[in-house]
Amino acid sequence: MLGVSVTTRFLYSVLQGKEYSGKSKKNEPLHRLIDHLAKDLRTCYDKPIPIEGVSWTKQVHLICLGFKGDLQGLIKVGKLSRNFMRDTATGNGPGICHLCRAGQEGMPWHNTEYCAMKAMKKDVPPPWKEEPSLVAQLPHSPSHKAQFFCVDLFHTLLKGVFGDIAANCVVSCYDLNIFGKLSIDKLLEYIYNDLRGFCKQRSLQLHMNERLPGIEETWKDYVSDMVGALKSASAFMHTLHHSGLWLLDAERDALICDGLASVNFFQRLADTAFSLGYTRWKYQPKYHFFAEVLYSLQEARELDVPAMNPLSWATQLDEDFVGKISTASRQVSSRTIHTRTVQKYLLLLRAHWDS
Ligand SMILES: [Zn+2]
Repeated sequence: MLGVSVTTRFLYSVLQGKEYSGKSKKNEPLHRLIDHLAKDLRTCYDKPIPIEGVSWTKQVHLICLGFKGDLQGLIKVGKLSRNFMRDTATGNGPGICHLCRAGQEGMPWHNTEYCAMKAMKKDVPPPWKEEPSLVAQLPHSPSHKAQFFCVDLFHTLLKGVFGDIAANCVVSCYDLNIFGKLSIDKLLEYIYNDLRGFCKQRSLQLHMNERLPGIEETWKDYVSDMVGALKSASAFMHTLHHSGLWLLDAERDALICDGLASVNFFQRLADTAFSLGYTRWKYQPKYHFFAEVLYSLQEARELDVPAMNPLSWATQLDEDFVGKISTASRQVSSRTIHTRTVQKYLLLLRAHWDS
């Protein structure tokens, strides 16, 4: 949705973490709040909401398609007992993913091949002991209950796998002494000047210089894999941002191709770093959740059904909205924080209403 996030999102409630977290509360107040939200959303589905000023209808029904947020948020709201915090050193645990059996015996979660992922999705039990109220209350596909809790690309890629690729590339360049004795400050200055010159010349906003100075012959493959990982990650995001809600076949295929390439480059870099004794390119559970996104695109291709742009589950603008509410909550007294934050939100909404 276009526009300022405060006008395209809706604040339902404000609840401080200390009011619901901790050993004694065990998220119960949060679950009661979510129960309330689920009942409200169900009412909006059953009873039409009257609207004015629209030529083609006088009422709408609200259909809730899913819940999105960072993994911690999904775990709390979905009461997910199979989650990323359940990883074990033996690889024989309860599982790290609410969508499949990854992390259980014989199902390593870093195996991202399509056939292996398909096997992980056979006879998957529910990821919760008690069905969360959003799933229990809202109409949803009975065979895809766990999928109600969506993988958010903002946290999985930009603050996850792709962020890791960028950070690992920087530290690996220092491992290999690619920048010589150049300090971080000098390097940033060099990149900044390079970037400024490039942007001035071509009116572009981003530039990555592939030509790294002074690479020894021994490291050329390693560095070339790093460039490959960065390029495929960048191409993946480029396609996401330039596609509509429903992907064209060519866009879906490009996403699968670039996504798998970045995953494969990551794997090769992790293997190389391990053999060199460098503690780099560590697999994180978000790597598996990226594979889940790629799997859904591959599955759509196999079943010959339309694929939705996974960017629709990203939360950049929602994070912006939450940031504004969070800022407002820091400007009020802690004793009246809940009421005053909602009041500040309403004032903010009014201020942006006509913009
Ligand atoms: Zn999974």
